[in-house]
Amino acid sequence: SQRVVLAQRPSGAPTLEHFRVEEASVPAPGPGQMRLKTLYLSLDPYMRLRMNDGPSYADPVGIGEPMCGGTVCRVETSNHARFKEGDLVLAFTGWQQYAISDGVGVNRLDRDMPHPSWTLGLLGMPGFTAYYGLLKIGEPKAGETVVVGAATGGVGAVVGQIAKLRGCRAVGIAGGAKKCRHAVEELGFDVCIDHHAPDFKAQLKAACPKGIDVYFENVGGAVLEAALPLLNVGARVPLCGLIAWYDGQNIAPGPDRTPALLSTMLVRQIKIQGFVIIDYYERYYAEFLAEMGAWLAQGKLRFTEHVIEGLEHSPQAFIDLLRGDNFGKVVVRVST
Ligand code: NDP
Repeated sequence: SQRVVLAQRPSGAPTLEHFRVEEASVPAPGPGQMRLKTLYLSLDPYMRLRMNDGPSYADPVGIGEPMCGGTVCRVETSNHARFKEGDLVLAFTGWQQYAISDGVGVNRLDRDMPHPSWTLGLLGMPGFTAYYGLLKIGEPKAGETVVVGAATGGVGAVVGQIAKLRGCRAVGIAGGAKKCRHAVEELGFDVCIDHHAPDFKAQLKAACPKGIDVYFENVGGAVLEAALPLLNVGARVPLCGLIAWYDGQNIAPGPDRTPALLSTMLVRQIKIQGFVIIDYYERYYAEFLAEMGAWLAQGKLRFTEHVIEGLEHSPQAFIDLLRGDNFGKVVVRVST
């Protein structure tokens, strides 16, 4: 069976040398355990942070260990009291075809659900991140302007759609004309601005004639620079991700921008609140599933997946994701 391990720690953008595709024997479950066969693997930006050593909100992946990741799996053999052979489950077994599990952190899914991989996207971690960050921290009100970067990705696409369902003006920021068109025509954003455009800052300003009330921060970098001067008095900034800086490479040496940021926050009475979604499942996940499930049933949500075929292509797909060469939520179809 195949697995992909971390071969070396990158000190900038990851390349193929930082990963290794390995063959391993198919593991056998012991008492109280089960063997999971991976059907879908989710690829997400946070995995870049797990490739670093040192403290973060989660432990680093060890050298020679399989890369971490959320998965949809089928139970292949089970000695576990709660799981049967053939069960479909949501797990966190990482970049490998097979894993042994004692059932901790594993949740059963409906065997007949139409799109099991959506539990890694719209109805899973990224969707929940959008829901929690926008509604519980951003607290958008009808008529307000909500801005989000990485607007066509797993998180941003859901932020924009919920903003519209709440009666807001939704302004997306994405890389390239194709993504911007998709954001408006498929996802329902009012407008979407290409952050590669030379006059990006001016375009964003023109797209927000009444300023910004909620800036859902996915990106940092030039996108944050463009949004900051447009924030209204009392604006809220759910601080979700800073993908532009995850490689540690694009951080300008100076001048120090902290005074500009903090002065803006003070004078305009802005709330910036960071959050790590894992901490909010217990309190809000059921509410999220109920509300999203209802919107989905009413045909009010769209979801675009970028499906990669085969585990061995995960490293390249992950490198592409960090560069913005993905189109929608990235999942790898590992087996059928
Ligand atoms: P996406 O599917 O949106 O993929 C990442 C996208 O980021 C790329 O496609 C690219 O889109 C954009 N991007 C990359 N580099 C830059 C850059 N320098 N400037 C502007 N945009 C860039 O990812 P997700 O939706 O899964 O995640 C979005 C953010 O949310 C990430 O920062 C992630 O870490 C964060 N997150 C945080 C969580 C939490 O608990 N706090 C949980 C889940 C996600 P484009 O081509 O459009 O620029």
